[in-house]
Amino acid sequence: MTDFKNKVIIITGAAMGLGFATAKVLAERGAKLTLVDYNEESLSTAKNEILSEYPSTEIVSIVADVSNEDAVKNYVDETVKAFGRIDGLYNNAGIEGRQASITEYDVDIFKKVIDINLTGVYYGLRYVLPVMQKQNYGRIVNVASVGGIRGVLNQVPYVASKHAVSGMTKNAALEYGRYGITTNAIAPGAILTPMVAEAFNQINPENPKKAETEYAQINPTKRLGLPEEVAKVVAFLLSDDSSYVSGQTIAIDGGQSNMY
Ligand code: NAD
Repeated sequence: MTDFKNKVIIITGAAMGLGFATAKVLAERGAKLTLVDYNEESLSTAKNEILSEYPSTEIVSIVADVSNEDAVKNYVDETVKAFGRIDGLYNNAGIEGRQASITEYDVDIFKKVIDINLTGVYYGLRYVLPVMQKQNYGRIVNVASVGGIRGVLNQVPYVASKHAVSGMTKNAALEYGRYGITTNAIAPGAILTPMVAEAFNQINPENPKKAETEYAQINPTKRLGLPEEVAKVVAFLLSDDSSYVSGQTIAIDGGQSNMY
């Protein structure tokens, strides 16, 4: 498939997990990529891995913390300088924080989760939307979570940030739809990435595999999701095919969020 030929897509949090899986799917389909991450070493490994699999991919890689406004403005400017336009933004970088009840939550970690998961996504919108508005075209996918649809025990800033991402997504759809820009969010359930592996470590430090197996049993599919299963939905939302889908938060969770 070459449906992303000549499309320029920015992916934040591209070095690992969901961002990296999507980068590979889009590279296979011909996209030009700006890969953004604050982990310089992993970003370089990710870029090399993509180039070894898809050698003709044009890639700009930028080390940036999405919670730093100047760094976000810079990754947008550098993308326009390199490729002349921005067709899609996968606003994906995020962290989970620690597991603790509301009254015991570390306030500094609370603020950090909000800074990255909410303000980082907002900065992405703030600087990419004007470029897309001039083009009269754009596709934005923000990353919420099933924790943006309902509560998750002991993850108060994460849940607050992801509900807010879902809300911002609706606003972007309303305010920028007239410029040919669609904005959607995805709400993954538990997908096997380094972030989720760390969560199982925190839930059961003695036996994280047991925590993972127990969690999978709750899911209607009796398994966790794979990053590639998320990447294919994201690719659809970033493609021309999703032209009349906007302001939605789409769960990718094996159906688990329907459970009472
Ligand atoms: P991950 O930890 O495996 O990868 C996240 C990547 O983002 C890493 O490369 C990390 O270095 C980067 N990153 C983190 N903070 C950053 C920052 N401030 N600036 C730049 N880069 C930063 O995580 P993942 O599981 O791939 O999660 C990606 C997104 O998906 C997050 O927003 C997460 O909340 C969301 N999500 C994941 C799951 C899941 O099950 N994996 C479920 C729901 C939502």
